[in-house]
Amino acid sequence: MAPDYNTLLLAIGLAGFCLSATLFATWLSAKVERFLLCWSIGIGCIVPAVVVYGLYIERPTVVVGCLAFLLQFLGFSFIYGAAYRFRTGLSGRRRILGVFAACAILSLPWLIAGYDGLAFITLNVLITACLVATAHEYWRGRDEAPLPLTGIVILYLLTALSFACCAGVLIHEGRWVMGHAPDNWAENLNLIVAILGITGIGAMSLALNQWRVAGSHHRAAMTDALTGLLNRRALFDRYIGEPVTDHIAAIAFDLDNFKSVNDRHGHAAGDTVLKVFADVLRDVCETSACLARLGGEEFVVVLDRTLPDRAQRIAERIRMDFAAKLIPIGKRSITCTVSAGIAFGGDDSSSFDSLLSNADKALYMSKRGGRNRVSLAA
Ligand code: GH3
Ligand code: MG
Ligand code: MG
Repeated sequence: MAPDYNTLLLAIGLAGFCLSATLFATWLSAKVERFLLCWSIGIGCIVPAVVVYGLYIERPTVVVGCLAFLLQFLGFSFIYGAAYRFRTGLSGRRRILGVFAACAILSLPWLIAGYDGLAFITLNVLITACLVATAHEYWRGRDEAPLPLTGIVILYLLTALSFACCAGVLIHEGRWVMGHAPDNWAENLNLIVAILGITGIGAMSLALNQWRVAGSHHRAAMTDALTGLLNRRALFDRYIGEPVTDHIAAIAFDLDNFKSVNDRHGHAAGDTVLKVFADVLRDVCETSACLARLGGEEFVVVLDRTLPDRAQRIAERIRMDFAAKLIPIGKRSITCTVSAGIAFGGDDSSSFDSLLSNADKALYMSKRGGRNRVSLAA
């Protein structure tokens, strides 16, 4: 039995409306990614497009047809824009406008000129293209959350396929002028797939949003807010319970006479010095090194696969680069130095705790020896 077309239209409208409402509620209560808002604007255009298309089925006038086309193009342009925004983080405003304008220019003239069949073929082809481009954007960004993203890609491609079928049937029938809305099996299938697509993609997009929000909370909990380095918790999460072999080196750093920097130039100046030191760490160490601020003016660098003289070279480089830095404070610039202690994993440092404590002992030797130097654990 053929499904009642109006019931299906109603179902799409309801599904879209409910999703928009859910998104709106999520947005009010929690952080929502911009791509999701962009997507909900798209769905927000599809809902009235469906209503206007229902009117066109009753009374196929050019004005109502144009309005239904424009709303659909706007909706699918925003849906594409959301995918672009998801992948790149850019607003994609120009792309959305470009896609919308291209669709309108390629399709509306046929409708206005009375070739409604041709207009519907171009409409379906263009929406297919929009959906494939949308799927492609999510596919390119799938590394972030492979499962929900692959699901989203499949749903977009299925929806695209259903629009392609609509175009295919019209082309096959070869009716360039119809005088009414298309009415064939592909149209019915298209509506059913669209309902599944909208609800499924909506649910997965919400899951994706949660995924991202949880990820950003996790990163914030692991990052030192002042310097952007890992914090103590992140460092210990990473290494506690891991085997500490003799290829692991820990370099402990403590800025020299830092209290007097604060006393003489103010706390904000002290913060600047801490940031400059973090920059020196980032500049000198390769990306595989683990850089952390333990608290105050104490930092640790952990090198995972290294030899003693290389760890020493890196520590010396950091010490010298930092001592040579002119740190701008107000109208003047100041200099500051750092002391370091190096320990290696192995017999005496078989746990991460003992590795750090041995690095600390070496650091204490540097302090006692006069500061601004690097010492090796015994
Ligand atoms: P030493 O050479 O022996 O390490 O001397 P020091 O002055 O660096 O050591 P001390 O431990 O006496 O002082 C550390 C100072 O670091 C004290 C504290 O006010 C300051 N400090 C700790 N955390 C921060 C911070 O986040 N920002 C700023 N500006 N200062 C901080
Ligand atoms: Mg200290
Ligand atoms: Mg200090």
